[in-house]
Amino acid sequence: MRGISSWLCVVCCAAVCLCGAVGCAPQSVTRNGFALNTPVSITVYGTRDQGILDACFDLIAQKERLFSRTVPQSDIGRINAAKGEATEVSAETAELLRRALYWSEVTDGAFDVTVAPYVELWDFTADTPQLPASDALQRAGESVGWRGVTVQGNVVTLAHPDAAVDLGGIAKGYIADCLYTYLQQRGYAALIDLGGSITAVGDKNGAPFRIGVQHPRREDALIGYTEIQGASVVTSGDYQRYFMLDGVRYHHILDPADGMPAQTDLCSVTVVGACAADADALATACIVLGKQKAQALLRELGAAAVLVMQDGTVWHTDGLQWTAK
Ligand code: AMP
Ligand code: MG
Repeated sequence: MRGISSWLCVVCCAAVCLCGAVGCAPQSVTRNGFALNTPVSITVYGTRDQGILDACFDLIAQKERLFSRTVPQSDIGRINAAKGEATEVSAETAELLRRALYWSEVTDGAFDVTVAPYVELWDFTADTPQLPASDALQRAGESVGWRGVTVQGNVVTLAHPDAAVDLGGIAKGYIADCLYTYLQQRGYAALIDLGGSITAVGDKNGAPFRIGVQHPRREDALIGYTEIQGASVVTSGDYQRYFMLDGVRYHHILDPADGMPAQTDLCSVTVVGACAADADALATACIVLGKQKAQALLRELGAAAVLVMQDGTVWHTDGLQWTAK
């Protein structure tokens, strides 16, 4: 993501410099912050009002209070503490869980919102990272399975008392969609970067936004770019959160079958679409599915995507407007 950000930064700076040359003030406001466990950057065009950025960051904080697995009072925290008992949540959380379950079904369980007990056994940012004990993973696996989640109205029930849910694979996209709606309704064009999820609200003075996709093995390089307006570009990859141990890469996208980082021939998957939540879930699932199944699913869904294989080759769907670097 840093690659995408820096690319955007170059684009933004270039725009500002050009504007300066003809003597006009840049009509945009940008704020960088940290939220949702990731760097966040929002630029709103056609205004110099910092208040709109305050509102965007407030909206992110409000959603985080609903969806965070690590905040005990959040909807997700309460579901996970309920030992499988029915838990009433906000209509929004119920809806997002339904969306997550839809993606579990479509991806044949590659996307699984119940991976939380596995997730808790991994710390990808520890100074001296360790592998979870295999019996702990096995025990955790007894409660994992998306079919055990029931959402009726706003009431969520987990079939296993130790089961837990984690919206980490879809929530950033969903929140990007919320920001999109908020800004669009107020007539703004904007560029939203939620660490892995880039959303363009409208266009940039009549031209599309150019969004670079990071090279999964070279922090300062891009593999290419696409151009979007009113759409999102969402990337999942084995380079975003990982550690190396004895020459093996352990990354944060887990195989719901055993709780280990998905063994996959894909380093990164970038999905481009109108709905960032859907793109987010699909990108995560494709990493788990691997190239062949991912390609088949993307074609079946008519989705636009770029896949980067472990051998460095790049593939993209026919429908995607794509420029390779
Ligand atoms: P993303 O960065 O969107 O690919 O999502 C990765 C995050 O989603 C992880 O940090 C976990 O919180 C969660 N996750 C990991 N593996 C899966 C999976 N197979 N299905 C759904 N969510 C997952
Ligand atoms: Mg995702």
